[in-house]
Amino acid sequence: MKMKSKRIVAVLLLLLMLSFVLSTSAYVLNPWKVSYGYLTYKWGPNTQVAGTMVRNGWENGANHIDNASILTVGYSSTGLGTLDAEYLISNSRYGTMTTYYNNGIVTSFYGYLNGAKSQLTSNPNVAQSTAIHELMHTFGYAHTTGTSIMSTSRDRTNIYTLQHDDYLGIAVKY
Ligand SMILES: [Zn+2]
Repeated sequence: MKMKSKRIVAVLLLLLMLSFVLSTSAYVLNPWKVSYGYLTYKWGPNTQVAGTMVRNGWENGANHIDNASILTVGYSSTGLGTLDAEYLISNSRYGTMTTYYNNGIVTSFYGYLNGAKSQLTSNPNVAQSTAIHELMHTFGYAHTTGTSIMSTSRDRTNIYTLQHDDYLGIAVKY
């Protein structure tokens, strides 16, 4: 190979590597965090009964975050926020979370898993994936792409634990 074409190949390789780095999005931060990384939740009107797919999903998701990271998530009758079920038959969403904060610190939150979503109610991994995703919004993380629990396009049957990128995001805030 001539010197000039070698240089072109080198430049093309560099561009390829750069585009890969740019397309591999990392965690995205929300402008709030949970005080001391210590989150407590209570149940809502539709999650009073134990053993439902939605309530199991919330519990499994909360337990995973609690066990796998430096963050703490636990039930308390006086919890900071509420984890509930909604039943949206003709809605595509799996779950949703609204987080309230003051001076960058979470003051309250309200999360729903969609108990009418057949993909969620037929597969515990999907329910757990959704629960972790929604809880991580409250911990201060927004949507991202790539391999992350915060990716909206993740395969919820396979990505149902915190991923490398999520741990990097946790390390930045907590
Ligand atoms: Zn989300």
